[in-house]
Amino acid sequence: MSQPRGDTPSVTEPAADARPASAVSEQAARPASAPAEEAAARAGAPSEPIAARPRAASPADGRATGGPGGLCIGVLAVQGDFAEHAAMLRRAAAGLGRAVGVREVRTPRDLDGLDGLIVPGGESTTIGKLLVAYGLEAPIREAASAGLPVWGTCAGMILLARDILGGEPDGRIGLMDLTVQRNAFGRQIDSFETELTFSGLERPIHAVFIRAPLVERLGPQAEALASLPNGRVVAARQGNLLATAFHPELTPDVSLHAYFIEQCAARTHAPAPSR
Ligand code: GLN
Repeated sequence: MSQPRGDTPSVTEPAADARPASAVSEQAARPASAPAEEAAARAGAPSEPIAARPRAASPADGRATGGPGGLCIGVLAVQGDFAEHAAMLRRAAAGLGRAVGVREVRTPRDLDGLDGLIVPGGESTTIGKLLVAYGLEAPIREAASAGLPVWGTCAGMILLARDILGGEPDGRIGLMDLTVQRNAFGRQIDSFETELTFSGLERPIHAVFIRAPLVERLGPQAEALASLPNGRVVAARQGNLLATAFHPELTPDVSLHAYFIEQCAARTHAPAPSR
């Protein structure tokens, strides 16, 4: 499935994290080395030959750069619903009239020249293992520390948080001043959907929560962007870092992807600071 569904998904259907195996086999994880391949296999990545699979555009082949004056936004593509995010970025860019290249990121080299990065939902334990296996953990952390806009959704939020309750993945980015509780709403069957007011967006958005995390502690460096009616924080920002506990890529509404594109554009096209 690469196109978002036109209707609102039923959360009783298997979604995102409920289908890591098929998501991975549809959109191949591409280990960079033999040890990485072994680690990927342990983490649940496919065992079939991967070299033959279509390769994402990379800086070297000059594609997916958005063209002159355009942006190139990466989607971490090792597990989870990265294809849905890529499709949403393309739709949002078209709506904004912006030239945005979308690149699937599987190796450190794929990070070169990016203007932003999405870390999708899926399973943070698996994504964390693959971050380590593919040598992506430190390069992503360094790029994010240097100001690259990074948006984590659901498992991606977990990987961005400094402190994690309910099981720490092997690898993670760990830069946001948050403590998140994994699976804070219960199991898959406890998934739910709701309307959310999101600071910075004109209209409420429809939010899909699937085995979602919750912000237990919002540190002073982070600001809340959306909360549930009970006051629990489900979206936060810290400078160039954005985290949402829900899945905006599973609804037809591209407004949050448009918001992220504008954040990436604002940073990339900002005038150099005067000395
Ligand atoms: N429960 C998953 C985790 O802990 C995240 C779920 C999701 O991304 N939909 O990693």
